[in-house]
Amino acid sequence: MIKITPLKGFEYEKLDYNSYTATLKNKKYQSTVHGYDIYSQEVGDSKRPTIFIQSGIHGDEWQNLYFCREFFHALMGEADYGHSEKFARLAEKFHWYHLAGINPTGYTNHTRNNINNVDLNRDYDPWLGFGQHFTQAETQLSRDLYIQHKPIIGIDCHTWDPGASGVDLGGYAHVDSYYPNIYKKPRQYDVMYWDMLQDSVRLSLKQNDGFPPEMQVILVVGQNVNSSARAFFASQTSSANTPSMSYTFEIDDGHTLYNISSIGLTLLLIIGLYMENWWENRTLKLTQ
Ligand SMILES: [Zn+2]
Repeated sequence: MIKITPLKGFEYEKLDYNSYTATLKNKKYQSTVHGYDIYSQEVGDSKRPTIFIQSGIHGDEWQNLYFCREFFHALMGEADYGHSEKFARLAEKFHWYHLAGINPTGYTNHTRNNINNVDLNRDYDPWLGFGQHFTQAETQLSRDLYIQHKPIIGIDCHTWDPGASGVDLGGYAHVDSYYPNIYKKPRQYDVMYWDMLQDSVRLSLKQNDGFPPEMQVILVVGQNVNSSARAFFASQTSSANTPSMSYTFEIDDGHTLYNISSIGLTLLLIIGLYMENWWENRTLKLTQ
C-alpha cells in the first residue's frame, strides 16, 4: 500500500453543461445526445494502455465532472494540485481517456436519471439477462468507446449522499451464481482492492487535517451491481489481453466542494500509481 499526501482541492460552481464542456482542454467531440455535444479528453499516446475514466453518469452527482476534468488538466501540466512529478510520469506511460459528462440531460435537470427517466447505470448489461440492455444513446456511446479503446481499467466516478461514508460494498463482489463468467477473476481484484484502494486511500486521506478520521469514500470492485457500467467494464478484455479492471468510487457529497475535489483527485492519482506498478511489474501490491 502507499500513503501519499492528498492533493490540494479547488473551489468550483456548477456551470451549465455546454459551459462545462467549453472548459475542457484537449477535448475531442464524440457524439451529440439529446441535443448536447459530448466530449472526451485524452492525454498520452493512444498506443499505450488506456486508463478510461467516466464522469457524470448520474446527473445529480455533478461534482465528479469537475475533479475528473482537473485531474486531466494536471496530467497535461495545465493545473498544479501537487505531486506534479507523478502526474508527468503517469502522462508519459499511459493513454488517459476521460469521457466527460456522459449524462448531459441528467446534469442539466439535476436528476440521477436521463431525460427518458432511465438510470444509465442500470442500462449496461454484459450478460444479457438482468435489467436493461444498452437501450440509451448515452450507454451505447460509453460501450462503443470502451470497446474501441480496450482499457486496462475503467473507473466510473460518483458521489453519494452525506453520511454514506464508511460503507464497504466490496464484500458483495463474489456472488458467483450471479456472475459465473467472471468468477475466476476476482481473486486478483481482492488483493488490489484491499491493498490499493481500501488501505492506501485510508492512509492517504486520513492524514489530511481537514477530513474526519473515518473513511469518506466508498470503493466498489467491478462486479456487483446488475447492468452497471462497472460490471460492463469488468466483463471486457484489455488491449494487452488482460481482464479489464474496474472500479467505482463514491465520495460523500456532504463534504465541502474543496474536500470533494481533493478526495477525487487523490483517488484518481492513487489508482494511476497502482496501475503504473501493475503495468510495469505485474505486481498486485504497491510497495513504494
Ligand atoms: Zn451515482
